[in-house]
Amino acid sequence: MPALIFFDIDKTLTSSKQPLTPEMAALLGQLLERTNVAIISGGAFAQFREQIINQLPHGVCLERLYILPTSGAALYTYRDGMWKPVYEEHLTDAQTIKIKDAIETAIRETSVIDLSVPSFGDRIELRGAQVTLSALGQQAPIAEKEAWDPDASKKRILRDAIAPMLPEFDVKTGGSTSIDVTLQGVNKAYGVRKVGELCSFLISDMLYIGDALYPGGNDEVVKETGIRTHQVKDPEDTMRVIQEILVR
Ligand SMILES: [Mg+2]
Repeated sequence: MPALIFFDIDKTLTSSKQPLTPEMAALLGQLLERTNVAIISGGAFAQFREQIINQLPHGVCLERLYILPTSGAALYTYRDGMWKPVYEEHLTDAQTIKIKDAIETAIRETSVIDLSVPSFGDRIELRGAQVTLSALGQQAPIAEKEAWDPDASKKRILRDAIAPMLPEFDVKTGGSTSIDVTLQGVNKAYGVRKVGELCSFLISDMLYIGDALYPGGNDEVVKETGIRTHQVKDPEDTMRVIQEILVR
């Protein structure tokens, strides 16, 4: 049994931006009875609360849960009945404006996003330590999002247009329609190392479960920490993996 099991969210624990299913929530509850769990994804803390924390079975040991919003730019733990940041990196206002300008320029220059179609909520979201572009808007329905860029080519075009304008930042493709811009070096690998250092876990005792550990995927970067990894296909696959861990 690993001392700490990391999970990605999108396509690993849930479908895009959906809450945990009751089945997945029950399995995570059982896992938390046995070991520590860390969850890392591009969303802000409020999204983790809605999608993950509020769905967990009543009475689970939240002290064993480590929440890493904005792709590892922050770490929250539950102590004395409250979620509190252990660390939280922030972009300055000037950095945020520069990133937003670069994203808007890339949208205009690539024409990959059809601006004549109204977006589902804002396309650009400022998440403190991260700026996220969601091509169809933050609240776009899953079916529309999955149909927009099935081969990830539009996201690559956008990323390749944005990245040269922002050499001092990391520009990465995120979920099905999103691009995440963060401080350089602040990414999922950074999050894995920080939890290890600050919460006294050895990376050799951790396991990382994600759907995008393949080259170019948004979980791949964790491999540079030396963490053991397990690639999954989708949330159903993840449930099978958790069940296997639980019977060990
Ligand atoms: Mg994912």
